[in-house]
Amino acid sequence: MCLFCEIAAGNIPSKKAYEDDSVVAFYDIAPQAPVHVLIIPRRHIESAQALTEEDNTLLCHMFAVARELAVTLGVAESGYRLITNVGKDAGQSVPHLHLHLIGGKELNWNN
Ligand code: AMP
Repeated sequence: MCLFCEIAAGNIPSKKAYEDDSVVAFYDIAPQAPVHVLIIPRRHIESAQALTEEDNTLLCHMFAVARELAVTLGVAESGYRLITNVGKDAGQSVPHLHLHLIGGKELNWNN
């Protein structure tokens, strides 16, 4: 199992922010901002590049969870960024689809 599959299964501990049947959200171990949560599907999907039309409902749900968390974590009004890295050049370090929800400060736009 990959690292995030292990976290979703509860075999590796994490600080959970939300979970349901299809999605888990937990705090990033190396936060880049005051708010930094990762939203993942329970099912292993390698990256956004591996999504298919059959994942439409799941993907919509991941964004719904992100919106809810943005409210809960107090950044819905101030703003936040949703990022998903795909592959080597983007620096994807865990090959399991995840949305970074980052906020709580003014974010730079550096590449
Ligand atoms: P990416 O580089 O886009 O693949 O993002 C992977 C993220 O997972 C990084 O921001 C890491 O800090 C985070 N991460 C790695 N291991 C853990 C862990 N055990 N618990 C929480 N976050 C993790």
